[in-house]
Amino acid sequence: MKKKMVSAVLAAVMSTVMLMGCGSSKETAAEAPAETAAAETAPAAEEAEGEATEAAAGELAEDVQAIVDRGVLRVGVKNAVVGFGFEDPATGEYSGMEIDLANKIAESLGVDVEFTAVTAATRTELLDSGDIDCVLATFTITDERKKSWDFTTPYFTDHVGVLVEDSSGITDLSGLVDKSVGVSSGSTSAKSLVEAMIEAGLITGDGYNAETFDPATWTDDISFKQYEDYPSISTALSAGEVDAFCVDKSILAIYNTDGRSYISEEFAPQDYGVATTKGSGLSDYVEGLVTGWLSDGTIDGLIANYGLN
Ligand code: GLU
Repeated sequence: MKKKMVSAVLAAVMSTVMLMGCGSSKETAAEAPAETAAAETAPAAEEAEGEATEAAAGELAEDVQAIVDRGVLRVGVKNAVVGFGFEDPATGEYSGMEIDLANKIAESLGVDVEFTAVTAATRTELLDSGDIDCVLATFTITDERKKSWDFTTPYFTDHVGVLVEDSSGITDLSGLVDKSVGVSSGSTSAKSLVEAMIEAGLITGDGYNAETFDPATWTDDISFKQYEDYPSISTALSAGEVDAFCVDKSILAIYNTDGRSYISEEFAPQDYGVATTKGSGLSDYVEGLVTGWLSDGTIDGLIANYGLN
């Protein structure tokens, strides 16, 4: 009960901090990773720190207390997804709604934040190895993944899209039959695309099994090439190594350059949640924050601020 009240107070404090700091999203992000962030948000942050310390005395779970004691929350984020997690190549500064959320979690704990750029393939390894405490990286909540990691209530819902070179003449899902599609290792993309094509009646789906589906071995009317990161898929698309590039539209946006277009369909809603170690105290802590920020309009504010709706 007390914890909930503390969270509510913190949520209110933090939304004030956010409103003060979010006149320009870049500015907020620029401050974010800096060690001076806490000082700059005083007195609100001071108050928040006081609350966290008070809660820590009797109520914080052991793993959350360990983060407070360490003084740093280590977060896995994307570095090339504009509006979510983007690292300015010139300054090294991060910006995006996932960056702001990570900062707010750290602020509520009264600690600094440290960002590690992750990919779809590395984010879970780094979480499992303990190199990072949580993941805010366009990480889609799926039943399969929930068996291995905890996810908060979703803070954003995206859809999967497909990017092609205009010269390919492909304009919709039907144009992808018998084509090769670039996807990221460890992503939901290939499975989402195959399911969308089966649903559209474009491929039979004989032999499709949601449990055992593997992009590496699927060759039934569409095939996939898997890459470690998104820039590699973009290069492969330019080189004609693949006919299309499939992933969430938030991620595709930065690669939608002149001479390229999305096919007309988007599909497979992708609910993004904060991922934490299964059964950890941090899972409960972050869930409390996220649900608070969903109900008090903080998350809607971030979505609007980054033009994501
Ligand atoms: N959001 C999708 C997933 O979690 C796409 C991959 C990615 O986030 O990079 O699989």
